[in-house]
Amino acid sequence: MSRAAAVDDLDLTFADGTAALRGVRLAVSSGEMVAVVGPSGCGKSTLLRVLAGLIEPSAGTVRLDGGPPAVARRTTSPIGIVFQQPRLLAWRTVARNVELPLELGGIAADERARRSADVLATLGLAEFTGAYPFALSGGMRMRAAVARALVTEPTLLLMDEPFAALDELTRERLQEELHALHVRRRFTAVLVTHAVAEAVFLADRVLVMSPRPGRISAEIAVPFGDTRAAALRADPEFARLTGEVSARLRAGGA
Ligand code: ADP
Repeated sequence: MSRAAAVDDLDLTFADGTAALRGVRLAVSSGEMVAVVGPSGCGKSTLLRVLAGLIEPSAGTVRLDGGPPAVARRTTSPIGIVFQQPRLLAWRTVARNVELPLELGGIAADERARRSADVLATLGLAEFTGAYPFALSGGMRMRAAVARALVTEPTLLLMDEPFAALDELTRERLQEELHALHVRRRFTAVLVTHAVAEAVFLADRVLVMSPRPGRISAEIAVPFGDTRAAALRADPEFARLTGEVSARLRAGGA
């Protein structure tokens, strides 16, 4: 498998002197989903923003498809980002929200409509394409945000605590849907989350970050493959893995 994203010896110090990341190394293979867990403030969001090319590292290299993020954004499919809040535009319908990145990319109207309808159907929103965000539940808004991130068929999908604001049941449903979508579309993804069970449910590998300045202090492979459904959460092996990730988190940088 090719390396879709690689970070080497990454340091990030903010202008005020806050050392957010130190010596981060990370490689994500094409089609892989990697979760990053770590204590609050350890630099998870910062790492995601560096991967997205939104902030420049102080030292080290970031490569997407073998080149710097800015070049990857120009020459290949763009990077999709999902934040904790859906950030939909209130005055646009669901379909027109999802089409926005295609509009910005200069894609023709009929192609935009076809692609947004396709991804919205995949996310179970076919009946809501003409609805405005206020008429949707929190879970549906987040589905629309995921659709907007995937409509460009990005090289890399970056997710920053995407389900943290949702209730537990909706959150678990969306995890199951995201897994099914990942199996079908095989996008490469980095998921930042506080929730250990969410990381183990979704990821092929879980990376544990140390307290700030963050670095990857442990890596746990998750061997559940492509057939993850709700019942997995009751599996003893699932409990063992979440226990292992939690123990690594508690051990911090040790
Ligand atoms: P996490 O996502 O793991 O909670 P963040 O990446 O948001 O952590 O933040 C890492 C650290 O960097 C925190 O201590 C945070 O306060 C600090 N930080 C984040 N953004 C800035 C900034 N623009 N300037 C200075 N410090 C920042």
